[in-house]
Amino acid sequence: MTADPVLSCQAVRKTFHGRPVLHGLDLDVAEHEVVVLIGASGSGKSTLLRCVNLLETVDDGAILLDGEEITDPRHDADRVRARIGMVFQSYNLFPHLTVLDNVTLAPVRVHRVHKAEARRRALELLDRVGLADRAGEYPDRLSGGQQQRVAIVRALASSPRLILLDEVTSALDPELVGEVLALIAELKREGTTMLIATHEMGFARQVADRVCFLDGGRIVEQGPPSRVLSEPSQPRTRQFLQRIV
Ligand code: ADP
Ligand code: MG
Repeated sequence: MTADPVLSCQAVRKTFHGRPVLHGLDLDVAEHEVVVLIGASGSGKSTLLRCVNLLETVDDGAILLDGEEITDPRHDADRVRARIGMVFQSYNLFPHLTVLDNVTLAPVRVHRVHKAEARRRALELLDRVGLADRAGEYPDRLSGGQQQRVAIVRALASSPRLILLDEVTSALDPELVGEVLALIAELKREGTTMLIATHEMGFARQVADRVCFLDGGRIVEQGPPSRVLSEPSQPRTRQFLQRIV
């Protein structure tokens, strides 16, 4: 018997202005699993992540978190988002809050964690990513790589069941990409369940337990990175990989 998946997307359909962007997509993510979505721009990676975080409503199908249907309209979206951490390409830190206040905001406001306890945990997390000494700074005093690591720490601070990462290195200068990818690799070693959209194939190969290639809102091919990235069986996957290297 296998455990229930943390995330289960079942026949998810999403249409924008009559144009299908997700075509009845099925995808499960097991506990401790790292699933990486690859595919050309416009293939539906961000839309899928946004549907999971209820930033978009699905037109058909269902999304389950720990077996609970979160796409049921009676669900409180804020309560669902409190169980999912999401990090975007543009780090989206609150500019008027210090690093520490960015990280403690959700635990204190949403999860009703005591302020002192939230600060203790935030400083512990910041220390782990080498940023404890920047806790009192405002985001604009930090490099892009540091801001993105704070955004990841902020996502972790609420101890979410699942972390969604959408092209988190795309806006970074090349020399800052490595420090962010190293942090994500460490989260994987700790068993964090993650669904990641990325253009970094080397990174996908390194952290993915499973790679899913999306094309036109469908998963065309999926499997371990060693197979999908090195010996793709589908012509579309092959074309995509040839174009990007
Ligand atoms: P990816 O992240 O793989 O680049 P997206 O999920 O961003 O792909 O986009 C998939 C398709 O959906 C694209 O054709 C995009 O233009 C369209 N799309 C995404 N968001 C919206 C929106 N809010 N309104 C209309 N079309 C959208
Ligand atoms: Mg995208």
